[in-house]
Amino acid sequence: ASDALDRLIADLGDIPVVTEEKVVRRRSRDFFWYSPILNAQLDGKSADLIVLPRDEQDVIRIASVCARHRMPITVRGGGTGNYGQAVPLEGGVLLDISGLESIEWIRPGAMRVGAGAKMHTIDAAAQAQGWELRMHPSTKRMATIGGFVAGGSGGIGSITYGGLREPGNILAARVVTVEEEPRIIELRGDAAQKVNRAYGTTGIITALEMPLAPAWKWIDVVVAFDDFMEAATFGYEAALADGIVKKVLSPITWPLPSYFGSLKPSCPEGKSVLMAMIAEPSLDSFKSLLGGRGTITLETPTDESPGRVPLYEYCWNHTTLQVLKSDRSVTYLQCLYPHDRVLEKVAEMRQLFPDEVLQHLEFIRFGGRVTCSSLPVIRYTNADRLNEIMRLHEERGVFIANPHVFTVEDGSRYKRADADQLGFKHEADPHGLLNPGKMRSFVSRR
Ligand code: FAD
Repeated sequence: ASDALDRLIADLGDIPVVTEEKVVRRRSRDFFWYSPILNAQLDGKSADLIVLPRDEQDVIRIASVCARHRMPITVRGGGTGNYGQAVPLEGGVLLDISGLESIEWIRPGAMRVGAGAKMHTIDAAAQAQGWELRMHPSTKRMATIGGFVAGGSGGIGSITYGGLREPGNILAARVVTVEEEPRIIELRGDAAQKVNRAYGTTGIITALEMPLAPAWKWIDVVVAFDDFMEAATFGYEAALADGIVKKVLSPITWPLPSYFGSLKPSCPEGKSVLMAMIAEPSLDSFKSLLGGRGTITLETPTDESPGRVPLYEYCWNHTTLQVLKSDRSVTYLQCLYPHDRVLEKVAEMRQLFPDEVLQHLEFIRFGGRVTCSSLPVIRYTNADRLNEIMRLHEERGVFIANPHVFTVEDGSRYKRADADQLGFKHEADPHGLLNPGKMRSFVSRR
């Protein structure tokens, strides 16, 4: 390590650090390699060392030491982000937040936890009391709650509750600022949006208060259809059926199910499928809505025990992962369909790209309306064609959240940083040390 790093490590006192280059390089990565474009830009970027706070006091000390040394800090939770959110562009400290994993309390309808807690662990703790997280990404078994709030958007459960950005889906966030004298700021209610999907550029989150939903016994269901549009049409009907309690509705076109490993016995050759998580008491209603339209090929309680693969690990961005396991030539997109023309637009996109864009939809609520996002698998040729595919979607009213860019701005709908987030960054990170390069509109005033 250089002299500067040695002095920094000395100032950190007894806080554990890792300097072994191989380990630091490996932990500086996330799942950006899904994107051939990001892979070329981010491969090889690394922190200089990993620092492992044991509690909030350690986080405060790290923030103070880094502010004095003007050393960049990139927070890492589970490292499962897709856009290189947790990849340090300018070296410095990789702050592994996983030591902050305590459950402060669970009350009816809400819980407060350390930001480094694994989502799987806190969900299980809530379920033991009859509650569960309103939503989680399909990476629930690896991701942290802080990483989800700082880098994610929604997922399993968003068909009922919408995404993280909907009012009420984050109750509060506790944040440590990066200054010589760090402050602790409690962002309550809407103010918590200052850290939502800001990639850790607007403060180090140490604790989160999250709303809970009543826990259900969930049943994993696969329905096979001759035609993808039949799967999409039924999925949309089930999405609109407010009396049917569900957590996932994912229509997936053939041939994607042919890549689905241990699920293959439930994915008949040539059939498109609808994957669903249905609350046990709603199962009969789900089946009568289906009528004779498709064939149920799987119906089993969601099983998250080690060695088992719950159905949700074939949905959301796990669909892409299942394909990438055997075919590295594909990539993906993130689309949002207009709520008033969902099926019409899905059919139009399908016609426009019959073989190149393999459809995979996720029904969600967005701003209170039922629509679908989609994470189609793309047969990748080159960057120009990928950009053209995105343009052709947007020209036809299908919004794209580009997953092939690494800044907060470029990945956003309006291609700019949220004004509240940018303003708050000046307060929480005046020297611009948090994940530098990810919020490109920030210019330090000092
Ligand atoms: P990390 O990758 O470690 O971090 C994400 C970002 O948050 C980084 O910018 C990091 O610096 C920042 N950060 C982490 N912790 C803190 C903290 N305490 N304070 C400040 N900043 C912090 N996302 C979804 O939203 N929905 C999905 O369904 C979904 N499915 C996925 C499927 C696959 C197979 C993969 C690879 C990814 C998927 N993702 C999904 C993306 C990602 O897994 C989730 O967003 C996940 O919640 C990230 O959590 P993490 O702990 O791994 O965060």
